[in-house]
Amino acid sequence: MKTLDNFDFKDKKALIRVDFNVPLDDDFNITDATRIEAAKPTIEKVLFDGGSVILMSHLGRPKGKEDKYSLKHILTKTSETLGVDVKFADDSRGDVAKKAAEDLKPGEILLLENLRFYKEEEAGDEDFAKELASLGDIYVNDAFGTAHRAHASTTIVAKFFAEKKCFGYLLAKEIESLNKVLNDSKKPVTAILGGSKVSTKITVIENILDKVDHMILGGGMTYTFIKAQGGEVGDSICETDKLDLALEILEKAKQKGVQVHIPVDVLAADDFNNDAKTKIVDVDKIPQGWQGLDAGRKTLENFKKVILESKTILWNGPIGVFEMENFANGTIELGNYIAEATENGAFSLVGGGDSVSAVKQFGLEPKMSYVSTGGGAMLEMLEGRTLPGIAAILE
Ligand code: AMP
Repeated sequence: MKTLDNFDFKDKKALIRVDFNVPLDDDFNITDATRIEAAKPTIEKVLFDGGSVILMSHLGRPKGKEDKYSLKHILTKTSETLGVDVKFADDSRGDVAKKAAEDLKPGEILLLENLRFYKEEEAGDEDFAKELASLGDIYVNDAFGTAHRAHASTTIVAKFFAEKKCFGYLLAKEIESLNKVLNDSKKPVTAILGGSKVSTKITVIENILDKVDHMILGGGMTYTFIKAQGGEVGDSICETDKLDLALEILEKAKQKGVQVHIPVDVLAADDFNNDAKTKIVDVDKIPQGWQGLDAGRKTLENFKKVILESKTILWNGPIGVFEMENFANGTIELGNYIAEATENGAFSLVGGGDSVSAVKQFGLEPKMSYVSTGGGAMLEMLEGRTLPGIAAILE
């Protein structure tokens, strides 16, 4: 895998695709600068070598040039975070961008205006990509969050660099971590899949059945599996058109020797509401008028045992409605078991959407081996797809 370490950036201009799509409040203050901080090692390597940096990113979903989506709003914070006065080109193409890039000296950083001010970015337009490419000597992709999109700056641009392109440290780490879980893993390997529906996870489940020893299924998708096996799920979320699919998954898992673990008891509520009345019930005997919203104690004990015996753990999706305090316990406990296993030497990867929010919310992030930064991109990798942004560097 070609990374920044394969290049000496002395007197070179690195054209770096970063993901600075940060959340802003109404006064344009950055409420979470994690993404800018995360790009720091890549940027510092180029500067340390004696090169200069041209940063390109998108912000939000502008329709044409909209001031509220201008990257000028993040300039001060970016300069502060990187410890360098970052220059700004208020156009990502044409003479403005060209002149700003030409004037750039070693040690300097230039941020280009929001790429999505041009519809050519998302359209993957070749001319736009070529124009971007003309600004730098070496292309670096460090934006995992958009690696699953064949946009001009994430994919198409790479074809104008022949050998002079590589992964940034952040993107390289994402690829390495997933590889550690799916292709180069220490056994036993356990995948924990939660979230609301089977339908959105089916391709992930099918892809990883070949790679894991244990599969823990929890959260809202539990009830589709339980109903498929003849259980009573009351008012729990359930995809009745996916019952056959659920049985097929269980059968496939059996054929492949994967041990599937499904909740045996749940915390049921008489309403989808934090203040609803609750009781613990067997997962296959949920009365009408009640719905399962979190894992029960016996379930958690079962899951704990599997997790503590695992050497590699992948976690995608919460196992309860963790957004409501009274149904967050299962997800928190599960996170704690993974933290304990990690402390004992297991490799743990959390990725793909809501479980990432959960680990952040419950302060578990530092206790995991790796927490992915790209929701959609990670899910597509788990589905076994080759992401265009990654393929473009490898080609
Ligand atoms: P997903 O985007 O598919 O990963 O689903 C995440 C969502 O699943 C979270 O918002 C959870 O609140 C929700 N979820 C987890 N468990 C349940 C459940 N038992 N019933 C309904 N929703 C759930």
